[in-house]
Amino acid sequence: MEGGIKEEKRHEDKEEDVNVDIQISAPVEKKGVRRARTKQKKQDEATKNMTTREKRRYNTVKQLHESHEVLRDIWDVVEKKGRIEGEMIAQPKDIVMQLLPFQLEGLDWMTKQEQSPVKGGVLADEMGMGKTIQTVSLLSTTRQDGQPTLVIVPTVALIQWKNEIQLYAPSLKVVMYYGTDRNKKSKELESKDVVLTTYAVLESCFRKQNYGVRRRGTMVKEQSMLHTINWHRVILDEAHNIKDRTSNTARASFALKATYRWCLSGTPLQNRVGELYSLIRFLQLKPFSMYFCIKCECKSIKWNFAYNEYHCQVCKHSSHQHVCFWNFEVLKPIQEYGASGLGLDAFRKLNLIIDLIMLRRTKVERAADLGLPPKIVTIRRDRFSPEELDFYTSLFSNSRRSFDTYASHGTVLNNYANIFELITKMRLAVNHPDLLTHKLASSGESSDLLVCSICHCEPEDPIASKCKHVYCRVCVSQYLESYGGSQPSSTTTSTSTSAGTPSCTMCFAVLTIDLTQPPIEYVQAGPLRSLENSLGEDIMITTPDTMVYKRSIVNRINMATWRSSTKIEALVEELQALRRSDCTIKSLVFSQFVNFLDLVQWRLNRAGFSVCRLDGHMSPSQRDAVIRTFMTKPQYTVFLVSLKAGGVALNLTEASHVFICDPWWNPAVEDQAMDRIHRLGQRRPIRTTKLIVENSIESRIVVLQEKKRDLFMSTIGKDTTALSRLSEEDMEYLFTS
Ligand SMILES: [Zn+2]
Ligand SMILES: [Zn+2]
Ligand SMILES: [Zn+2]
Ligand SMILES: [Zn+2]
Repeated sequence: MEGGIKEEKRHEDKEEDVNVDIQISAPVEKKGVRRARTKQKKQDEATKNMTTREKRRYNTVKQLHESHEVLRDIWDVVEKKGRIEGEMIAQPKDIVMQLLPFQLEGLDWMTKQEQSPVKGGVLADEMGMGKTIQTVSLLSTTRQDGQPTLVIVPTVALIQWKNEIQLYAPSLKVVMYYGTDRNKKSKELESKDVVLTTYAVLESCFRKQNYGVRRRGTMVKEQSMLHTINWHRVILDEAHNIKDRTSNTARASFALKATYRWCLSGTPLQNRVGELYSLIRFLQLKPFSMYFCIKCECKSIKWNFAYNEYHCQVCKHSSHQHVCFWNFEVLKPIQEYGASGLGLDAFRKLNLIIDLIMLRRTKVERAADLGLPPKIVTIRRDRFSPEELDFYTSLFSNSRRSFDTYASHGTVLNNYANIFELITKMRLAVNHPDLLTHKLASSGESSDLLVCSICHCEPEDPIASKCKHVYCRVCVSQYLESYGGSQPSSTTTSTSTSAGTPSCTMCFAVLTIDLTQPPIEYVQAGPLRSLENSLGEDIMITTPDTMVYKRSIVNRINMATWRSSTKIEALVEELQALRRSDCTIKSLVFSQFVNFLDLVQWRLNRAGFSVCRLDGHMSPSQRDAVIRTFMTKPQYTVFLVSLKAGGVALNLTEASHVFICDPWWNPAVEDQAMDRIHRLGQRRPIRTTKLIVENSIESRIVVLQEKKRDLFMSTIGKDTTALSRLSEEDMEYLFTS
């Protein structure tokens, strides 16, 4: 393979030499020769002080512009055009809720974007600013009979979208294309205004159409309705779901047919240059998302090379002679030069593209419009009981000894899987020692129960690695993100490759895992949790047959003699104080560990709290039922949310207090938890309490978190990956007593 590339390059160089010869010695008029020579001289002059890499780039640009005249001044054209400004227009008459000033501006901007050559764009307002209502307003003001809009959302947000559309624009006809009976609905899709579906359904339809489904031993291809209809408009909610452009989900979204295309995203995308390409590709933004042949006028939005094929199916030139305009002009210079020289120029181009397609407002900028109450964050610090301290101290000194051994051999990064495990164990021990002593056995192939290889709980949204070990999707993502061994290449951030990744925490093989794969199908077995511990009658009545019970850690412990922990009692104390002061206050309790939430739930039930709980295995309608119960029934004052099951787009404005049970070093994770309730509709001041046990790994994680936050605020490049990464120095700090 490598030999092949070298040969090709040599061949390419030779071709260029030949060209120069012809140019000079061709039988042309004297004047022409002189001009050619002057031109050659000028070029020598221009490339005189360049490095080989820069020279190669210079030549590619030259050829690219010769073959594609339009690219020569494309950036000036874009710059002159400038960004489209939205103006505050009148409230649309079909929307029953009053839009805020910035939302009316947003609607105007979206309408104008659709009239521009971009035909869509990216609405990237910060979380909780009403991207949904702005989008629904667009759907309502521009509806076309017989041409529905397709909205693709994460599974957790499906019902919420349906509810919000019906709430804001009752006249829109909505259908959910979801579930096993969805094919029955195929015929009615085109008579609706809005078709709602999920990324999982989109991916599955695409897969069945392209690769087929196994039926009675043979593969049968099945036409995808979603890919057959010519949509008026396609909208991707939480568009970072397609950030890995090689994933099936991304490809499935690229293959949709539509006049207008939109991405909604609450994360600041300009910090993730590598992931932006997927969105530009989805938007079919020309020429930025296209491939160009530098030797001829061949250009395309698709990569015109068959698998293992070396020559373009259209022009027959080699793959090296085709450049992806985005990668060539923006991504590669930024990766190679950072924020200087050619990199700086690429940043300018990046901002031009962002201006062309994106609108982002933050809550701070539009605070006056929003009228949001203030956010107050406090840290409650407790101390271990003598028994807990004994347990923790011995665990810590063992962990520290292991870490010191790695450090003295200079093998910290090689042992990252072990170190991450040690950190996780200490975090579990701080919450409750039982989480370590009664953890689930690791899932062997014979076991009917899946266990996450990182948190040792029953996994939420389980996915498997190539070595067949099971992880929670969030656990393994955080594990990979925190690895500081080498910079992950930004085009493959979500699919790990063998280079620069840590090993599997179970078998220590190099960890290869597709983070975008659909979750493992869950077959429930084993004893059911008692009804008393579940969510209460209301939910049992609405979904009698489908309620899923998990094997709670409570079933493995003799609860008659069970002792609580400092952390749990701190939480109980806080909640009891709240209940005494105002019994209508509702709280969200976040933890990363499902088993810990089991213990918390059991303890809170004993203390007389009615508790709701969001579970990773719930279907959309079950989630909806739980959320609705919490929002509408006053007696349910506590909502337990796993940081993993919580997922995205929970509109829990009924709660005004957040408890974070186990701190994480990436401050963005906690911010996201708080943003669940710091959003439109929230009127009470929001208080967040972090529960920390002093002189444990937690107090150090909190310090690390602040350090990372300060560092992030002071850097210009705003690299979000630095927030999640755990450097060797950081680890050293965590293991200091
Ligand atoms: Zn060509
Ligand atoms: Zn070609
Ligand atoms: Zn896990
Ligand atoms: Zn493994």
